[in-house]
Amino acid sequence: MIGGGHANVHVLKKLCTSRLKGLHTILISEHFEATYSGMTPGYIHRDFSKEEISIDLQRLCFNAGATFIRDKVVRIENNNQKLELQNLPSIHYDLLSINTGSISNTKGIKIENSSRCFYVKPISLLVKNLSEIDQIIKNKESKIAIIGGGIASYELAFSLLRRYKRGIEITIIGKNILNEKNLNKKTKKYLKKISNYLGIKEILGEVVSISETYLTLKNGVIFECDLSLLCSGAEIETWLSKSNLKKDKKGFIAVNDYLLSTNDKNVFVTGDACSIENNFRPKSGVMAVRQGEVLKENIFFKLTGKSLVKFRPQKNWLYLIGTYENYALLNYFFLSFHAPWCWKLKEWIDKGFINKFKFSSGKDMPKKNFELERSKDIKMYCQGCGSKVSKNTLVNYLNAENSNPELSDASIIGTNTSSLLQSIDHIKLFTSLNPFDFGIISYLHSQNDILSSGGSVQTISVSQALPFSEGKIENFYMEYFMKGIKSESIKDDSVIVSGHSYQSKEPGITITMNGVFEKQISKNQGLENDLIYLSKPLGTGYLLAAYFDNSKLLSSIDFQNLIEWLKKGNSKASEISKNFKSNITTDISGFGLASHLSDICKSSKLSAEIKLNKDILINKNTEILINFKSTGFENNYSSSVNDISISDKNKFKNILYDPQTNGPLLLSIHKKDQVEFEKKFQLELGFNPILLGEFKKSKRKLINVIG
Ligand SMILES: Cc1cc2nc3c(=O)[nH]c(=O)nc-3n(C[C@H](O)[C@H](O)[C@H](O)COP(=O)(O)OP(=O)(O)OC[C@H]3O[C@@H](n4cnc5c(N)ncnc54)[C@H](O)[C@@H]3O)c2cc1C
Repeated sequence: MIGGGHANVHVLKKLCTSRLKGLHTILISEHFEATYSGMTPGYIHRDFSKEEISIDLQRLCFNAGATFIRDKVVRIENNNQKLELQNLPSIHYDLLSINTGSISNTKGIKIENSSRCFYVKPISLLVKNLSEIDQIIKNKESKIAIIGGGIASYELAFSLLRRYKRGIEITIIGKNILNEKNLNKKTKKYLKKISNYLGIKEILGEVVSISETYLTLKNGVIFECDLSLLCSGAEIETWLSKSNLKKDKKGFIAVNDYLLSTNDKNVFVTGDACSIENNFRPKSGVMAVRQGEVLKENIFFKLTGKSLVKFRPQKNWLYLIGTYENYALLNYFFLSFHAPWCWKLKEWIDKGFINKFKFSSGKDMPKKNFELERSKDIKMYCQGCGSKVSKNTLVNYLNAENSNPELSDASIIGTNTSSLLQSIDHIKLFTSLNPFDFGIISYLHSQNDILSSGGSVQTISVSQALPFSEGKIENFYMEYFMKGIKSESIKDDSVIVSGHSYQSKEPGITITMNGVFEKQISKNQGLENDLIYLSKPLGTGYLLAAYFDNSKLLSSIDFQNLIEWLKKGNSKASEISKNFKSNITTDISGFGLASHLSDICKSSKLSAEIKLNKDILINKNTEILINFKSTGFENNYSSSVNDISISDKNKFKNILYDPQTNGPLLLSIHKKDQVEFEKKFQLELGFNPILLGEFKKSKRKLINVIG
């Protein structure tokens, strides 16, 4: 699926409750969130928050058992069933659903680089650009031009006036004004009356160029303005218009009544991007939502070989346009009302839609994307082959990588040292996570073992457990896992010397690493009065637990932030600490901070005096820390609790036992180096190391939490 538009989200919602054997779904979206157009004007005039108008696509995918890939499709080769992405490897599909919306139509308008012109489509871009618009408008009385005379321009004008209250003057400029045929006369009269009352001006004319401080109309008239908003209808982006998919006269992808491309029966297209042959309707979110209802059925029918159902577009539909505070204008056939109850109705409909995509904490949805089974001939996996992946998948990958063409089983590693560091680690794939990101995370997770012994990685061996699957899915996982791993191994200049892959219901990656070291670091070298630092914050265990429990305490932005920390490596931090002659380095792994720190204290015959505060947390909301625990928490707690002195009232106490995936390094730095170390760390990594406390003479408890 490309794009988390109003229709594709319906398919994902259906997947939350309906299982289809052998189906693996991938959503590729430029954004983590989908913006619901119906509530966007309400967001502009601050009735709703960004979260209230957004669908968290990662979470939707998690509940649907789908994989979420955040990237932009830049080319579609439908003849080869292949999608090229901006940053990540290409993806092959069997069936495609395109719901990528549209962009503002710029045909016939010359837009200068210096212009302050903002596109209103895609609607997510308008939402993103709002803070920039705020900046332009903040300091002075501003003249805004809205280019386009449709109903969206009026709704936008009303909501902007409510957002900025005063100090702006809005002019709507259109080739024609309010000529949507579904709007009745009374509605048009209402719209004119309201905009007159609000001081909104109208100009009938065609804008042909947009410069920094003015617009030029076709009749030569110059219109001065501080910024303009392009509300001039829709067109599709070049990557899609350049595809082989057949277009209609206006350049949109032509689809039949089943919402399938008219020249490719493996491609569904919905929403603004498509036009139904012989059934043209104006582009709207309403139409995309209605198409979603049919799309979700047709995708299932198509995959199960049943007859598809037809989408029958309505000729007219309900319009509800927010006007003043708590007022909306309703238009339906010949009916027109402007009243508070219309706003209430609008709110009820919009919230009803968006709430379908919010999930309740604690409810067990079937999260099943790793329960892939071959739907065709094979009744069960006999596992007699040791669940090996197919030779084709392996050879294709190795050939494309130009490595190990003769499929040798082992590699010779030349070293100039007699001692090698060696470690092994394994982590399981989190449902819905991009396998490329997971490749990065598993490399870094394993790398911590080498770094904490004072070494650097030389060679790695990878064993990957791919989901039970074949062909495109198997290829997809192998390529994404391996390329993710490779993107990190390149930074270490380490070589992938051997590998193994097999199929499993619990996909994941095992990495064995070999490293060399100049000076080995062991746990008994802690020194009294040395400072204890963490190279990055903690919290991956309970935060992932909260996210996968659909907790409302964790937003989509919080999840993105968590993934960013999970993808941050520790090698720079290790290098800096070595330069400062750090005696102790250890990584905080699945056993948690308390376990690792108490091990060091025990071996070094010292105690640690530490302080816990918000700096130590990836997510500063302590409510999440108090309410959620990862599965490994209890074991960590019971094995370390007796070594620790901490007040029962300390609200950070749970973080001591939280298991970490690719956690931070724990570093000791001599006190005299504090200022220089912190300066260097900040300069090289762009954030501060976290000062936890210091080593003290041995006390009754190994770790004493003060404060
Ligand atoms: C100011 C304004 C107000 C509006 N109000 C309403 C209203 O009240 N009611 C209504 O019915 N309509 C409204 N509309 C129209 C509505 O915004 C669109 O018709 C609707 O958003 C189209 O939905 P869609 O599902 O086709 O695509 P979208 O909702 O635009 O979703 C497409 C998604 O695909 C993603 N995408 C695009 N290209 C790629 C790519 N190459 N790779 C990966 N992802 C990609 C985009 O980021 C986006 O998330 C309004 C429009 C405007 C401008």
